[in-house]
Amino acid sequence: VHILLVEDDDRVAAALRPALHRHGMTTSRLARGRGVAEHLAGVDVVLLDLGLPDVDGIEVCRRLRLALPGAVLVILTARQDEIDVVVGLEAGADDYLTKPFRFGELLARVRAHLRRSAALPATAPSVRLGDLVVVTPARRVTVAGEEVGLRAKEFELLARLAADPGTALSRETLMADVWDENWFGPTKTLDVHVAAVRRKLAAAAEGGHRVPEIVTLRGHGYRLQPPEE
Ligand code: CA
Repeated sequence: VHILLVEDDDRVAAALRPALHRHGMTTSRLARGRGVAEHLAGVDVVLLDLGLPDVDGIEVCRRLRLALPGAVLVILTARQDEIDVVVGLEAGADDYLTKPFRFGELLARVRAHLRRSAALPATAPSVRLGDLVVVTPARRVTVAGEEVGLRAKEFELLARLAADPGTALSRETLMADVWDENWFGPTKTLDVHVAAVRRKLAAAAEGGHRVPEIVTLRGHGYRLQPPEE
């Protein structure tokens, strides 16, 4: 596993890199955002500091997601303002950690994301709900034959919901199945991803296509409601 650390703080880099090496990972480091595109060969995981000296970290996040669609992208932020986190997740990050964090927590999250991207939930190979088709082995989602562009976690969330259509799934279940069973951080991540999937499904449904609806169950979680036959 190769980890690219984009972090201008030498102390953070000096603490993280040897610890990652001790766990069998290799690392490279950039102290700024400019030129990041030239350092992406073989990268499995990016740890991205949002507060970079030269480029807006959110913009770097967006570019990384486009350049590395299958990589695990984790934001490291010292910012207290949670708007940055929401924007970062919308820009394609899989997860975030607020500094200071424990190394053990970082390692657990990175490993969980790597596991998830290697092994998707064991569901039926494909699910059809109205005009929506979710093909798990190919990680493809189509509406009336047109591909819907979903990010990694958005796909996994929709695939999990589609595995139990019409069934109430608790927030805890969704967080555990799509993110990590040991998740104990804020679950805003879930709502941000649900909102993104809803937006994309609504856009794909334009023109009268029938797609399921993600229904919010207050105080519980979500249900994927298949379209009426
Ligand atoms: Ca910084």
